[in-house]
Amino acid sequence: MSGATAKKAYEGRSITVTFEAGLCRHAAECVHGLPEVFDPARRPWILPDGADADRVAEVVGRCPSGALEYRFAADAPRVSGQGPSGGPEPSPGGDPAAP
Ligand code: SF4
Repeated sequence: MSGATAKKAYEGRSITVTFEAGLCRHAAECVHGLPEVFDPARRPWILPDGADADRVAEVVGRCPSGALEYRFAADAPRVSGQGPSGGPEPSPGGDPAAP
């Protein structure tokens, strides 16, 4: 089983980003989306704390190849996105289905 690509984890305070080089299509969505976090000229090239964790998650979600993934730290504060159970959060504007 040689040639398998290792997934590398870049741990931040609020979010950890993983990168699997073998899947990367070099579309540069990440680099264009958040250059302060993703910079191939720097080592390490991913700095998860370089921007708000929600923005990091959003840009990671744009990766077309699946090379990038993320997970929030268990105790990290979140201002948007999914709830702790992975389900949608209730909308703050009230219940639109109410009569
Ligand atoms: S967005 Fe994904 S596929 Fe594109 S360069 Fe970044 S890691 Fe590679």
